[in-house]
Amino acid sequence: MSENQPHVAVVGAGIGGLTAAIALRRAGLRVDVYEQAPVLSEIGAGIHLAPNGSRLLVRLGLGKRLDEVAVRPEAMEVRVWDTGAVVVRQPMGDAWQARFDGPHYTLHRADLHGLLAEAVPADLVHVGHRAVAVTEDVGGVRIDFAHGASVRADVVVAADGVHSLLRRPIAGDEPAVFSGTAAIRAVVPSAACPDLPRDALLTWVGPAGRLLAHPVRGGRETAFVAVVADPTDGGDSWSRPADTAALRRAFADWEPGVRGLVEAASEAGHWTLYDREPLPRWSTARTTLLGDAAHPMLPHHGQGASQAIEDAVTLAACLARLGTGPSGPAPALRRYEELRLEHTSRVRQGSLGGGSQRLSTTDAPPASASPAPPSPSSSPRPGGAGMEELVRDVTWVQRYDVEAELATAGLA
Ligand code: FAD
Repeated sequence: MSENQPHVAVVGAGIGGLTAAIALRRAGLRVDVYEQAPVLSEIGAGIHLAPNGSRLLVRLGLGKRLDEVAVRPEAMEVRVWDTGAVVVRQPMGDAWQARFDGPHYTLHRADLHGLLAEAVPADLVHVGHRAVAVTEDVGGVRIDFAHGASVRADVVVAADGVHSLLRRPIAGDEPAVFSGTAAIRAVVPSAACPDLPRDALLTWVGPAGRLLAHPVRGGRETAFVAVVADPTDGGDSWSRPADTAALRRAFADWEPGVRGLVEAASEAGHWTLYDREPLPRWSTARTTLLGDAAHPMLPHHGQGASQAIEDAVTLAACLARLGTGPSGPAPALRRYEELRLEHTSRVRQGSLGGGSQRLSTTDAPPASASPAPPSPSSSPRPGGAGMEELVRDVTWVQRYDVEAELATAGLA
């Protein structure tokens, strides 16, 4: 590791910040990570890791650990909400992996976060450090923390998530866009729903909303997310514990497989779903944004984490090749932003009306481009609309190889 390479301070040890630390160190840069939480941890929820993100983690040397903790589903199924009948089944497995040149994993967020944390030396991750201000000068940048300490670095990467404090000097206080929907997430033992397959992504669409479930931890546990209408704009508190009794009531007349899932959830998280319009820029001379801090998006494409991973690999390539010139890191940060801003804006746009929102058990036309809350009065019947549209939506996102783009840009 060369002393001439920039010293990078990453703020936030989430999926994006930790991947950035791994990629930056691999590219030969000096890195420290500052995390506000007193210990590294993640919420109890599942996550899809799409091939565009997973293949980058595999190339960063994490494929073996991913295979140990994640599941590669064999199929996607859409089921009728009250009978459980399968209306459409899209095979995945090896053919899907070959088609997208990478595995599609489902896993527990804590397992993904844990394997990323293992790949960063513990003495480089400073927990209990809540960044409150960043000040740039000609020779570097200073981060001030809430407990009074400060550090200097050459570059600051703000990977401080959807509520990013550090994005404000760059983005201003622009309002979040409220979707009128919420996601309720939990992980339960798969034994609670013995009739559901342990190797498939399942979606039911019904009167109370939409419920997606997938296996984690070798199929021993099942993660689910229920997307429901939620007219209450929660203001700043985007997430909170869910009311599990209300969840059970909302899904009480659904098929036994769904009831088994929601009844087994002794606790669950409630996320009011917001996103933000794309920013015109992400960087100043020495500070840049990464992951949700740069481009929060609705989760219907299952792409937030994978986009953060693509950001991390791109930033590392740009800083390693362009970050040491007489102009300091500014040209590298500008190039990073050029390579990522338009692409992530397109993915964010797609997440407004595409992805899992396409799936329906009606034979009505696919959902429109705006995110309409599910109607409580509708009672969907079999038809299986939307799988072709979903596959079309995800194809260009999941085939995209950011390292091929970097090679074309002369940055590989
Ligand atoms: P985070 O993972 O949020 O990490 C931010 C970190 O910064 C945290 O550790 C936080 O404590 C720390 N931090 C914050 N402020 C400070 C500060 N001032 N100082 C120091 N540290 C700070 N994505 C997918 O790819 N697939 C999915 O299936 C998927 N499902 C989703 C379902 C739902 C309901 C939601 C809401 C999102 C989903 N996402 C999914 C999106 C994905 O979770 C995010 O895009 C991803 O976690 C972003 O990573 P990040 O590192 O940018 O932010």
